[in-house]
Amino acid sequence: MSRVYNFSAGPSMLPEEVLKQAADEMLDYNGSGQSVMEMSHRSKVYDEIIKGAEALLREIMNIPDNYKVLFLQGGASAQFSAIPLNFMNGSGKADYVITGQWAKKAYQEAQKYGEVKAVASSADKTFSYIPKLDKSEFTPDADYFYICMNNTIYGTVYHELPDTGDVPLIADISSCFLSEPIDVSKFGMLYGGAQKNVAPAGLVIAIIREDLLGNARDITPTMLNYKIQADADSLYNTPPCYTIYICKLVLEWIKRTGGLEAMKERNEKKAKLLYDYLDESKMFRGTVVKEDRSLMNVPFVTDSEELNAKFVKEATEAGLVNLKGHRTVGGMRASIYNAMPYEGVEKLVNFMKEFEKNNS
Ligand SMILES: *Cc1c(COP(=O)(O)O)cnc(C)c1O
Repeated sequence: MSRVYNFSAGPSMLPEEVLKQAADEMLDYNGSGQSVMEMSHRSKVYDEIIKGAEALLREIMNIPDNYKVLFLQGGASAQFSAIPLNFMNGSGKADYVITGQWAKKAYQEAQKYGEVKAVASSADKTFSYIPKLDKSEFTPDADYFYICMNNTIYGTVYHELPDTGDVPLIADISSCFLSEPIDVSKFGMLYGGAQKNVAPAGLVIAIIREDLLGNARDITPTMLNYKIQADADSLYNTPPCYTIYICKLVLEWIKRTGGLEAMKERNEKKAKLLYDYLDESKMFRGTVVKEDRSLMNVPFVTDSEELNAKFVKEATEAGLVNLKGHRTVGGMRASIYNAMPYEGVEKLVNFMKEFEKNNS
């Protein structure tokens, strides 16, 4: 068996220890005589899995008691509609910061439901930076203020949160979930698709301040109503059972390897290795302004389309896969999520050095 280093933006690598444990437990989970794939979501043994996953997440992220944790489906993209339906219920207004494709999609979806303002955008420079925010542009009576925390496609991240006062801050953290500690109490809602950093595809985790629940619009589809999901402990209907089980194994892995502080240290060390090389290379350069660089997604380019294509091809042959950049940026992108080992980034950087030597 030979495993590659997978730099995909998502679905992406999972920790090998987790995959092995899942394989070991595949036919008989914990003496139950069945696979988790086959279990009733209403069984006692499954209840321990979903409750256990929630308890671990609360512990690892230090989630305050006045927040609900929901396990949902429909991808991060379904929340683009669920958020206005559940929360745009006072003034009918909301503010969005446009930092890339995912923020823009969320913004466009919200426009169906109310008066939505783009308070800032970095579209002028292909989203290569996080725009400076001018508070006088904020809507004082907005029902919420929306950001995409880590911009998966463009490789930017907020190092400082917008000060929105009493207006609840909502953040899409799909591509930075569990990558470092985060102060949950600063947010009205945090959510993310699991397939980047938490589990296989099929699961969205939402963390919502309790007092914001219960005012969804009447037209809200039941499945998108966060209050209904919260009251049913995420078991209104069949949840993505197996994905939640893998999520629990990933959370156990994070806990055993030192929690989010240790995760942050490892992620910083990996990202530094790559960024330092990009800064010294004469062939490759990062596309993002230094102060807004993401720890998770690292887009980079050469000055030649031909070289970019050659690099991606040869890297693939060397077992470094899914390095092709998003079509709107071109070039390459290395997604180096939690499960990417240091050795994977080391191998990538060594490969880049060799490539630079052989092609200049
Ligand atoms: C991947 C991604 C999405 C879309 O997720 P789906 O689960 O495919 O809907 C949304 N936001 C961010 C930041 C992402 O990285």
